Amino acid sequence: MLGRFRLSRNSKPKDTTPPGASGERSPVGDDEPAVDTIAALLRTLGSMSLPIDSPALADFPSQCEAWATHLLLRRPSPNAPERPFTKRDWGGVRMFVLRSRQHELEAVSASLDDLRAALWKMIETLSQTFREEEGHDQTVAQQIDRLKGALDKTSTEELKREILGAIGSLNRIAESRRQQSRRRVEHLSATVALLANDLRAAKREAEMDGLTRIYNRGAFDDYVATTIQLQRSFPRPTTLILIDIDRFKQINDTLGHQAGDAVLQAYVGRLSLAFPRRSDFVARYGGDEFAVILPDTPLKDAVPLVGRHLEDLRKHVIDVGKSKVRITASVGLAELADKEDGASWIGRADRALYEAKRAGRDRFVAAEA
Ligand code: GH3
Ligand code: MG
Repeated sequence: MLGRFRLSRNSKPKDTTPPGASGERSPVGDDEPAVDTIAALLRTLGSMSLPIDSPALADFPSQCEAWATHLLLRRPSPNAPERPFTKRDWGGVRMFVLRSRQHELEAVSASLDDLRAALWKMIETLSQTFREEEGHDQTVAQQIDRLKGALDKTSTEELKREILGAIGSLNRIAESRRQQSRRRVEHLSATVALLANDLRAAKREAEMDGLTRIYNRGAFDDYVATTIQLQRSFPRPTTLILIDIDRFKQINDTLGHQAGDAVLQAYVGRLSLAFPRRSDFVARYGGDEFAVILPDTPLKDAVPLVGRHLEDLRKHVIDVGKSKVRITASVGLAELADKEDGASWIGRADRALYEAKRAGRDRFVAAEA
């Protein structure tokens, strides 16, 4: 809308005296077609007046109409409405149009100054925003300067073109920064995912026994603690099985430590076959001692599983290089009692295991609740 005007800032009309206002006769005279034309021009000015928010121009359309009516219908002059019509007040008409144009011009100039002030504020904010982002680079600075320079443009068309151009460039810069940030976030997410994987792998590794690749004592302790906690909120039958290979030292002594290691690995193979469920927790408790925790399994259901495992060991021949070895094991079982803590649970299973050893090995003993 404002772009339609061609105005210089602070432009002011130089001569405020209307031509002919000092009694000069109109070259048009009272020629009726001329009167009609001027009245029509006044009405056009009134009906198509600029949307200017100025008190001086508030009743401009009705004043245009009053002057048109004065000329056409010989009504009293709007300058002296109380006096009857004597002759057409051409000087009044000129003065009215001139004053109105002056007001319009001033109002439009003021609007443009306001617009420039608002744009300046916006440019300052924009400049601040870009500065606060990392990397206030040369391209941004250039575009901000371009915007500031645009405010000095006299022509609103130039002002518009410069501002739209600079805003377009800034938009492209902002978009490219958004993409850079997105790529950075994606890269960081991928790195975090890799680190999380590494962390999970490291945690898994920390829980594993190096020789037998089943859970180690630390993981066993954690599992027991979790089981005890869960038991308090969601009680369920859970049985602990402690297993110790019989006379394992003899294997080391006769075949060597490496053969002993191989026997331990072979034993874990049989143990994993005996307790294959995903929920069966199988761990190396230490040395030649192993632990199995069976969730949702009462003692009576664990007993036959242990019996079958011991039977399997008796029959199974382990190849250790050129030697063949058979092993047996002693087992203590205990079902987790109501409100029992971990130490007590393990203690009961351990005593049952000791009982099995004392009673001659290659057997199991189930602990009393
Ligand atoms: P028992 O029937 O009373 O259990 O007799 P045992 O000979 O098995 O006695 P004990 O359980 O006390 O002996 C365990 C042996 O296991 C002692 C130790 O040298 C051996 N051992 C512990 N860890 C390892 C290991 O990682 N590799 C090997 N080869 N031997 C181990
Ligand atoms: Mg042993």
